Order: sequence, then structure tokens, then C-alpha cells
Amino acid sequence: AKTIAGEKGTVSERSFVMIKPDGVSRQLVGKIVSRFEERGYKLVAIKSLTPSPALAKEHYIDLASRPFYGGLVKYITSGTPVVAMVWEGKDIIRQGRRIVGATNPLESDPGSVRGQYAVSVGRNLIHASDSFESATKEIDLWFSEAELSSYEPTAWGWVMADN
Ligand code: GDP
Ligand code: MG
Repeated sequence: AKTIAGEKGTVSERSFVMIKPDGVSRQLVGKIVSRFEERGYKLVAIKSLTPSPALAKEHYIDLASRPFYGGLVKYITSGTPVVAMVWEGKDIIRQGRRIVGATNPLESDPGSVRGQYAVSVGRNLIHASDSFESATKEIDLWFSEAELSSYEPTAWGWVMADN
């Protein structure tokens, strides 16, 4: 059955991607969005907002016991907005993580977003869901069903072909 995160392992798979406040402040939104667009992924939803502390805390709840949790929530809720997105397409969850790069930018592939633009783990520009379960939770947390669009990009058949 199709869930809010699409169907795992199909062209309807979805991931939650967020440009963090440093990415917005550094005016890297267009460059980052372009990587997903040019790969052929479908933009299903996008909005900019300053998350409430409650939203940021829930998003990162699995890290609540870590020493950097307080600082992480403060960073995400700084007042400079984030850009929250849902992207869709074949293997988007795994490929999204590859586009984003390793958590510590000093270990990220230089071709990844973090590897090209960041050096600090606490200012690593971008988030992407790390599993189908995370994508389901995160899309549901950040978006309502009504905010998720259904359409077919003109190149979809070419890009997502499986034959
Ligand atoms: P991600 O999935 O690659 O974003 O990494 P995690 O889920 O492990 O951590 C979530 C976010 O917490 C990271 O993207 C960083 O912004 C932050 N973070 C993780 N580890 C550290 C750390 O050791 N120090 C600081 N300051 N922030 C961290
Ligand atoms: Mg994570």
C-alpha cells in the first residue's frame, strides 16, 4: 500500500530533505535544489519556515540524549528559515544521502553538498532522511497530505525508465 513516503523501492519512493538555516543564509538554496532537479527527481513539496522548538526537537528526537542536541535544536530554530522539501523518484532515500554526503563534512565526498560547501558537523547545511521509516515519520511531521503534489514532470518517463 502506498504511504505518505510512497512505495519503497519504486519510482514513487519519497524522502524528506531540508536545507538548514546556514544553507539559506549562505544563499545556497538554488544550487542545492538544482542537484535534485537535474538528477531527475520530482519536487513533491517545498516550503520555507522557521521551525518551532517542538518541531525541531521531534525531528531530532532520536538524538535527544546526545550532548549536541540542545545546540542542534537552537541551530535549526535560530530564526533564519529552513527550506523543507519532499523529493520523489527511484532510490531517492539512498541517493539523497549520497547527494548530501557524510554527516561530518570533513569526511564527505567532495562532490556531495556537504563536501563541496561545508566544513563543520554542526553547520552541515542539509538534512535527508536516512531510511524509509525515517522518511515516513519526517514527511508526516513536516507536511500535511494536502501539501504534497501529484504530477508528472515532462522528462519523468525518460529519467525513471527501468528497461
Ligand atoms: P545526518 O543524518 O547525517 O544529518 O546525521 P545525524 O542524524 O547523525 O545527526 C543529525 C545532525 O546532528 C547532523 O546533521 C548535525 O547537524 C548534528 N550533529 C551530529 N553529530 C554532531 C556532533 O558531533 N556535533 C555537533 N555539533 N552536531 C552534530
Ligand atoms: Mg540523521
